Amino acid sequence: MKCYKHYNRDASSQCLDCGKALCPECTNKYNYPLCDTCFINEINSEKLSILKILGLSIFIFIGTFYYKFIILREFVEFDSSVVLYFLWVSYGFSSVPIGWVTLTKLQPNSFIWMPIIGWLFYFIIKLYLSVLIGIFIFPYKIYKFIKRLIEIKNLKKRVVRKL
Ligand SMILES: [Zn+2]
Ligand SMILES: [Zn+2]
Repeated sequence: MKCYKHYNRDASSQCLDCGKALCPECTNKYNYPLCDTCFINEINSEKLSILKILGLSIFIFIGTFYYKFIILREFVEFDSSVVLYFLWVSYGFSSVPIGWVTLTKLQPNSFIWMPIIGWLFYFIIKLYLSVLIGIFIFPYKIYKFIKRLIEIKNLKKRVVRKL
């Protein structure tokens, strides 16, 4: 069998996703054997999941801030310390998705049998921990996400040019 891209080379493996034949050079092109199309698909879905979580964080941040603002508008006088407090609370809430995802990675959900109250308990504890962890890793993760998005953009450009 010949490589899907280099018709004169013998294939030594195949794409893990679609099974196309790959020559040694194509096999070692990415971290694991993938054809260009499947690689693009993979980084596209990675990009989408990053954008989803960033979008969710921004949504929660604005939502919390706005909600606090609307609810407390009539009761408190807004000075800079109140606004700072709002920002801080909004920041805490918006870091939950990232904390949650990090926790899930550290300790994947195990499908054990638990009564519903157990799950509720588990959920609340996880939510609580998500805030605690999220607050600390949020800036770092945002930095990593943006860096990765730029990387993905460059990777895509490179692959598309070579396609
Ligand atoms: Zn493939
Ligand atoms: Zn090849």
